[in-house]
Amino acid sequence: MPVTAVVGANWGDEGKGKMVDMLAAETDIIIRYQGGSNAGHTIINDYGRFALHLLPAGVFYPHTVNILGPGVALNAQRFLSEYDELIARGVPAPDLRVSHRAQLVMPYHILLDECEEKRRGAGAFGSTKQGIAPFYADKYLKVGVQVADLGDRDRLKTQIEAALAPKNVLFEHLYDQPAMQPDEVVESIRRETERLHPFVSDTVGFLHNALSEGKRVLLEGQLGALRDPDHGIYPYPTSSSPLAGFATVGAGLPPSAITRVVAVTKAYSSCVGAGPFVTELPEPEAGELRNRGGDRGEYGATTGRPRRVGWFDVVATRYGCRIQGATKVALTNLDVLGFLDSIPVCVAYLHPKGRSEDFPVAAELDEARPEWVYMPGWKQDISGVRKFHDLPPNAQRYVLRLEEWIGVPIAWISIGPKRDQIIVK
Ligand code: GDP
Repeated sequence: MPVTAVVGANWGDEGKGKMVDMLAAETDIIIRYQGGSNAGHTIINDYGRFALHLLPAGVFYPHTVNILGPGVALNAQRFLSEYDELIARGVPAPDLRVSHRAQLVMPYHILLDECEEKRRGAGAFGSTKQGIAPFYADKYLKVGVQVADLGDRDRLKTQIEAALAPKNVLFEHLYDQPAMQPDEVVESIRRETERLHPFVSDTVGFLHNALSEGKRVLLEGQLGALRDPDHGIYPYPTSSSPLAGFATVGAGLPPSAITRVVAVTKAYSSCVGAGPFVTELPEPEAGELRNRGGDRGEYGATTGRPRRVGWFDVVATRYGCRIQGATKVALTNLDVLGFLDSIPVCVAYLHPKGRSEDFPVAAELDEARPEWVYMPGWKQDISGVRKFHDLPPNAQRYVLRLEEWIGVPIAWISIGPKRDQIIVK
């Protein structure tokens, strides 16, 4: 019963969607286990180009079951509109299931997120304003709404009243907004979720039966290790754990189930949102890498915001792989570096306390400066290469050197955004 977790080694946007889309060909069940519609996975396959925010990236295969597990932040409207878009664009209706224990992102979560980012002004977190932080805050304050609560009007109202009471004080007295009325929220969320019911079931029970039948399972992470609330760049993490270690919790699997952890990392670095980013390139130098990166330049799939970009960071990636428990690495976007004579790689951080190859706590990151090693470039288009030994020697050297530095085998090298642009090493 092989269970693979595909997770990010860095700040997110590493190209996990492409890897999941590719690996889903040989998988039975794909599960999103955390996060919500606050990140986007770009997928380019025979049906076209898609930016999936909530749907698992296995939805393009008729043989797969795709699950949103209990740990997900479910924005029902976004879920349904993404599903409708797939159908409208000719993708056969996927087998899609939502855990009855998943919790719902409510309109007040989104409003609170927007108001709070605005209030923080220059100190804003760079939230995608999808309500994710207030959603998880409510979950742990025990005033969240589980999908199963939708069928019980009284229970639903009790939770919404409890969640809204302190928020309405903030809306009226801090954020200059009208208070939200619990009854109206109850009615609107019930209306908006009418079409959700056919998707809802006990996904954990299903999963355990599937495991005992030897089905192949893939856990699809969102964002990356450095956005983990415990291990990442606090206070700029996301609000749920994107680690493989949490995947079994968010999906509802035994901790011992995971057999393979694939950490995805780019051949350079990119980062959306605020927070320390040691190898970040200043403008306008960043512009060329940004415009060449990804499939249409490095712009956020959810927000369209330009991503911050920089060179490969060995310190951050080795740490990211370690806390993910990576057994394999997928290195993406190697094709993007084909324009460079020489490629800087950050191998250590220099900060007032000295030189270090270990990723420091956030308090020390702001002062960290990169120590560079320069690798020779290959100055050619490698997007058509399909075998490792057909890569230009300097590209092979770059990959092997990164592998040595990270300390985890690089099993896949992605050399373009399309499904077939992959080298199995
Ligand atoms: P995810 O959230 O980790 O799935 O990553 P995103 O989809 O947000 O960002 C990755 C970007 O890189 C997208 O634009 C992908 O289409 C693109 N991409 C993935 N792999 C490759 C690759 O090997 N080469 C190029 N040029 N683009 C890639």
